[in-house]
Amino acid sequence: MTSVIERLRGDGPAFSVEFFPPRDEADEAVLWKAIRELEPLDPAYMSITYGAGGSSRDGTIRSIARVATETTLCPMAHLTAVDHSVSELRNVIGWYAAVGVRNILALRGDPPGDVYGDWVPHPEGLTYAEELVELVRSLGDFCVGVSAFPYGHPRSADLESDTKHLVRKFRAGADFAIAQLFFEAEDFLRLRDRVAAAGCDALVLPGIMPLTTLRTLHTTIKLSGAPASQRLLDRLEPFSGDPRAFRAAGIDWVTELCEKLIAEGVPDLHFYTFNRSKATREVVTRLGLVPARA
Ligand SMILES: Cc1cc2nc3c(=O)[nH]c(=O)nc-3n(C[C@H](O)[C@H](O)[C@H](O)COP(=O)(O)OP(=O)(O)OC[C@H]3O[C@@H](n4cnc5c(N)ncnc54)[C@H](O)[C@@H]3O)c2cc1C
Repeated sequence: MTSVIERLRGDGPAFSVEFFPPRDEADEAVLWKAIRELEPLDPAYMSITYGAGGSSRDGTIRSIARVATETTLCPMAHLTAVDHSVSELRNVIGWYAAVGVRNILALRGDPPGDVYGDWVPHPEGLTYAEELVELVRSLGDFCVGVSAFPYGHPRSADLESDTKHLVRKFRAGADFAIAQLFFEAEDFLRLRDRVAAAGCDALVLPGIMPLTTLRTLHTTIKLSGAPASQRLLDRLEPFSGDPRAFRAAGIDWVTELCEKLIAEGVPDLHFYTFNRSKATREVVTRLGLVPARA
């Protein structure tokens, strides 16, 4: 099975898609509808996030196993250090390998309950994602990704230390990073430049949210950790009372953002799908990133 990094070294720009684990049967049906609709568009890889609770974590393992065995997609499983001892982490990594998943996004995770609360490591666990990268690497031939933050991680003192810690994750063995949400192409490109200026040539991929509703805009603002750019607000706010017009303007905005990123040579656009496929399909089709047969 090809790895994420091998897929990213293919010809031309590609796209990838991220999902979260289903909570119940209805959720599962929604997730699989989206997966089956995106599969023919040949994303470079697909990933499933890793939650804080046991049932959500089981959902990640079950779903990624099904992707590995029942689809043509290249699967990547997220994994966090939250509430896990090192031996539990070894077990999860072993389960991933057993079901054929060789790509892992290694994350520290947020403190459960209050994402801005103090991080308390498990007494027999890990403190930083860098250590999880090392652990995954030590256990087999995995391709490893990590997270990156265009405006700096909320807990980083400044962009300099944030970049230093990101580069440490690459030096520990990460093959690539996926960026948290951002508003302007330049915000992402500055992150990429900081990594390059630190002497590191690892791939950093932009994370893209299709802005289809006011809610997705607010989620983007919350997750990015930065205020929305005035240019974006000027484009979308006039339509806040008209969902159809808002969606059209949001898809236009995201398509233009992706065009700028492709022009700057990004090898992959990573879409946060929220387990729906329509908006992502629209954007990647407009960008010409789908195979002719699809
Ligand atoms: C693409 C993407 C996918 C994600 N998927 C998930 C998911 O599936 N599940 C989930 O729960 N969360 C997920 N997250 C959120 C992520 O877990 C949180 O943002 C978390 O707070 C940070 O995780 P990290 O891996 O970046 O941590 P780290 O890289 O460990 O960084 C955490 C903080 O510690 C600092 N730091 C890092 N190393 C050191 C060091 N050696 N010494 C001192 N300080 C250091 C960093 O600068 C940063 O401020 C995702 C985020 C992104 C961008």
